[in-house]
Amino acid sequence: MSKDRFTLRRNKLIQAIKKSDADSLLVTNEKNITYLTGFSGDSSYLLIGRKRTLLISDSRYETQIKEECPGLETIFRTRNETIMSVAGKLARKLSISALGIEGGSVTLSAREALKEACKTTELIVCIGLVEELRIIKDASEIAATREAVMQAEKGFTLLRASITEDQTELQIAHDLEHAMRRFGALRAAFEPIVASGAHSALPHAHPRDVVIGDSPFLLIDWGADNAAGYKSDLTRVLIRGKVPAKYRKIYDIVLKAQLKGIAAIRPGALCADVDKAARKVIEKAGFGKQFGHGLGHGTGLDIHESPRVSSVSQQELKPGMIVTVEPGIYIPGFGGVRIEDDILVTKNGCEVLSSLPKEFDAMTG
Ligand code: ZN
Ligand code: ZN
Repeated sequence: MSKDRFTLRRNKLIQAIKKSDADSLLVTNEKNITYLTGFSGDSSYLLIGRKRTLLISDSRYETQIKEECPGLETIFRTRNETIMSVAGKLARKLSISALGIEGGSVTLSAREALKEACKTTELIVCIGLVEELRIIKDASEIAATREAVMQAEKGFTLLRASITEDQTELQIAHDLEHAMRRFGALRAAFEPIVASGAHSALPHAHPRDVVIGDSPFLLIDWGADNAAGYKSDLTRVLIRGKVPAKYRKIYDIVLKAQLKGIAAIRPGALCADVDKAARKVIEKAGFGKQFGHGLGHGTGLDIHESPRVSSVSQQELKPGMIVTVEPGIYIPGFGGVRIEDDILVTKNGCEVLSSLPKEFDAMTG
């Protein structure tokens, strides 16, 4: 019988643990647990090692665990036990001498509680062992991301036809979330950014309770979270009226930069070089200072995950990585443009997973 994808991922992790100083790893990051087991609940940890793999949970999740991770050995803690005390006891019982803990997820107080419970077991801080595996997506993850992109795009298309000038940014953001759910999204991948006029100059603008009125441009950054927890992340600017010539100019520069960035994506390319390919276009046009963030980021179970596509990232792109390309120009008091798509690194180059139009003329009306 072929092994299911979760078993394959856990086997890969066990290989990585063998190369570390730990004999087992206590996985506490929820997304990492979902990745390794398919379990979508919370308040549960995964103890994984060469000898045994055990999910530590509580009775609330008994049925769900049977459904989502059949065959996975599970220990249910009692009401009187804390999850860390059970983890510590297990470490002793299984004679684990060096237990890895996830440095990005365990708080100092949780670490103290674990130390107290496992006494002689040494705790080793491990960074990114599971995240390193998550960086390359398998076929099921790519399919889930495609679905999240589809939900975001269909939702946006529906929304676009319904926007009126008496709506507020907040109402439009809510309508967009609702529209994505109509196409099967569980929820929005993050709070959508809906920013009209000068507010679009804030890269992380929160939608306001302000009507969009006759503002000639509206920046929308949104994404869907599909049933398996995979996310999409897109940005478009809707042109709703006559824009100043300067706005048209920065739109075309950002679009050119985005296309250059996408063209640089292929296996073996360094993230810093992809960032540079896009940034050069914006710098040459004299707007380098108005593009203050990195070019993009990986997406997956988290909206922002590895790899970072930034000028300092020496990460090499590999087939199966999914990254955003999202250059922008932001002019305070005037407005901003950002254009964002989700890109899959393929064996020979890349595939743009999103397909919404982005030429200036296609964004008007
Ligand atoms: Zn975005
Ligand atoms: Zn993004």
